[in-house]
Amino acid sequence: MKHGPRWRMKNPAGRFGRRFDANRPSAARRGYGRRWQRIRQRKLKANPLCQHCLADGRGPVPANEVDHIIPSQGIDDPNHWDEDNLQSLCKPCHSRKTLSDMRAGLTR
Ligand SMILES: [Zn+2]
Repeated sequence: MKHGPRWRMKNPAGRFGRRFDANRPSAARRGYGRRWQRIRQRKLKANPLCQHCLADGRGPVPANEVDHIIPSQGIDDPNHWDEDNLQSLCKPCHSRKTLSDMRAGLTR
């Protein structure tokens, strides 16, 4: 889903944020509000190490990001809340994953 008319209407076309974020809903609206924070904390507690670094043999690196393995399309996407769809990542791994998701057109 590339277009989100539901939130696009509500996004105030303010002077600030327009350049970078005009077509992007707020973090809370995208599903990164309180409910997400709870799931995120639980995931990091269960898997405190970056799963990509472990898989790639870089050894134990503390994770500080929680990533959707299948990119979430927002709060209405069941993948968003599915803990089996989450992985703990360190910041560099998360940035890399986000970038490759974007290149693949899977996420904005
Ligand atoms: Zn990593």
